[in-house]
Amino acid sequence: MNAEDRRPKVNRVGSTAQRLAEKPYEKRVCRIECYPSCVQPGESYVGLSVEEWVDFIDEIGVEVQVVDGEINRGTPRFRSRMIPPYSNVDNDRLPRFLELAHQRGILILSYYPVIYTKPLKPLQPEWLMQFLDDGRPALENLGWFCFNSPYRDWLPEYLIEWLDNLDLDGFYFDDTNYGSHEERPFYPSCCCSYCEKLFREETGLEIPRKVDFDSLDFRHFVNWRYEKMKDFMHHLFRQIKAKHPDVILDMNSYIRPTADWSDGHPLNSFHLEDVGGYFFVETFRSLREPNFTAKVLRSTGTPFGLFRNVTQSLQGFGGAPYPDMFSPAIAGLAAIANGGAPCGNPFDGPTMLHKDTVKSVFSEFKKRVDYIKGDTVKYIALHYSQQNRDFRPSEIPKNTGQTYFHEIGQKDAYGAYEILNRSHLLFDFVLDERLNYETLSQYRLLFLSNSACLSDEQCEAIRRFVYEGGTLIATHETSLLDEFGRERGKFGISDVLGVEYRGTRGGTDDHGIIYVPQDAELSRNFGYVVCFYGQESAVSVLPDADIHVLCTRSCLEGERLLKDFDPRLDYDSFEPAITINHYGKGRAIYICGDVGGAYMNNPYPPLKRLIVDLVKQTPPPIEFEMPEAIEVTASRRSANELMVHLLNNPVPLLPWRITNREKHDAEMTTFLALREVNPIHNIRVRFNDFTVKSARLPLQGIDLDISGNAVATVIVPEVSLHEVLLVEY
Ligand SMILES: [Zn+2]
Repeated sequence: MNAEDRRPKVNRVGSTAQRLAEKPYEKRVCRIECYPSCVQPGESYVGLSVEEWVDFIDEIGVEVQVVDGEINRGTPRFRSRMIPPYSNVDNDRLPRFLELAHQRGILILSYYPVIYTKPLKPLQPEWLMQFLDDGRPALENLGWFCFNSPYRDWLPEYLIEWLDNLDLDGFYFDDTNYGSHEERPFYPSCCCSYCEKLFREETGLEIPRKVDFDSLDFRHFVNWRYEKMKDFMHHLFRQIKAKHPDVILDMNSYIRPTADWSDGHPLNSFHLEDVGGYFFVETFRSLREPNFTAKVLRSTGTPFGLFRNVTQSLQGFGGAPYPDMFSPAIAGLAAIANGGAPCGNPFDGPTMLHKDTVKSVFSEFKKRVDYIKGDTVKYIALHYSQQNRDFRPSEIPKNTGQTYFHEIGQKDAYGAYEILNRSHLLFDFVLDERLNYETLSQYRLLFLSNSACLSDEQCEAIRRFVYEGGTLIATHETSLLDEFGRERGKFGISDVLGVEYRGTRGGTDDHGIIYVPQDAELSRNFGYVVCFYGQESAVSVLPDADIHVLCTRSCLEGERLLKDFDPRLDYDSFEPAITINHYGKGRAIYICGDVGGAYMNNPYPPLKRLIVDLVKQTPPPIEFEMPEAIEVTASRRSANELMVHLLNNPVPLLPWRITNREKHDAEMTTFLALREVNPIHNIRVRFNDFTVKSARLPLQGIDLDISGNAVATVIVPEVSLHEVLLVEY
């Protein structure tokens, strides 16, 4: 007998394919990553037995569980030929757990840290990553491998061996960054000999050995890393699926508002759908963030999960026993409302102390499983940009470790998101790679919130979009730089905006800015002045522009700008501040202030109302009258059916410097954990663009009346936590 024949045969219950036929992965909305003692390696365990644990997760409604199929970053729990297994491998309880879970139809994925295989370090030290010098002391590599080395093929072979030896349904890939994996920010990789050779072959450039954003070659390297990361993940997924075609491969991505270039994750799509894969993102900070991140993930086109860690804690205990359901429910429902699936473990445990909460949250998720997929109703496209994240001068301090890692970046885009989202204006994020005419032509309005870095091709797409009848709202330094952050010295789309850049105004630090409405209706709505605190550009109107000045800039200066304000005094400089330019069949509204960033400095309601007023000059397809607490999405569920999600999320916008992780984690899950969510009544929905035939609330089983002659109006009587409104048209 050879070695292969002596290995124990894998005890398989049915197959992953059968379980997916019963219920596809995307419809499994009750996913949990947890590591109960009985499923962990080790000779003994505490608490529930494997049998009791499977009964427990079945009862609370788990459909997918992520377990640790490896030990301490890479040691296998089976007799591998590639890495020595741990000592107790022949008595491991994992196979029994897999057998029992599969008897209940539960999918089981194993955690695997993609770049981090500690036991391989002594075997293949030449495959380890080499970090760039970012000014910090050198770091010992604990087992972080370069995927441009032969590790690229070693890893899929190893993981195939796992699937040959354990009855797993797939992998949950963590540690997917391109660099070290201790302490943020991670040390960026990689300048090993494999990368050096590849980079030279593919770009003709020498690989950089230190972080240097002043170097154009380095900026090329930053973009090259993204391509290598995507290419490797595709390779990994393809290789594994070639042998195990039904396997679930779900990858942790770092596309969140605090991420920077160093992780090596593009703020563009990984396109994992091309290789049958999935991805998810962990969201942190307040419960405002899940909806933001879910919207970003939806814009990638890849099926996604939205991961949330513990949402309610108690000092001295970690996760709180008997937690309230509101916070974990809202985190998960934000995923569902945006076309994704909840995942992670917002409950802690779970143990019997979390049982009722998990059960009730999961049962709410399951009720909504048929209301996830849909194509969004297109109104506003909000640009969210990797180019700006990486190369815009405002972001360089974050990219070079001069600011706290867990702060959000691109405040301007985040602020625009906050304004649009909490004003119930329907919008999608549009990432750099989709900022083309084909995508834009589906929308009525493009919002460029200080999108300074734009390529010539993107400028041309924007130009055509407006020329063909679209509305553009652009702020501050939009189009002033190219896609690598190089200065143009002028706007790339000045002809579209009807104004030309004349430099910064009032310095490069945030300061008080006063706009003076010139338009009669704006004056009626906003009074003498609209104020905010941020940065601004100076512009001049192009001589042949067909322009209308909506607001000018005040000439008031000094410490307390509005002390002793009197409209009879001169307070108007008559410098253009908000303009509308007619261009082709469309219009471009230019705002010289960074209103998105200013809104994050201070979410001042008149500033929000001003932006909303400008946006709504381009009529929305659907309008909502409801409090700020509600977050809304709308999509086409089928050819003649609209699906509107109304999520009651009263969590306030926090000062943007209140991050979490090391600094503020405890506040987020104690003082800011939701202790109640009050129902909201009589939400009015006006369907400007749809001839509505019927409307109903499927979760409550209620049909709604339709009123209004020209414009159909529906009143949703109550939203307690979340409601789905289905509209036939
Ligand atoms: Zn390398």
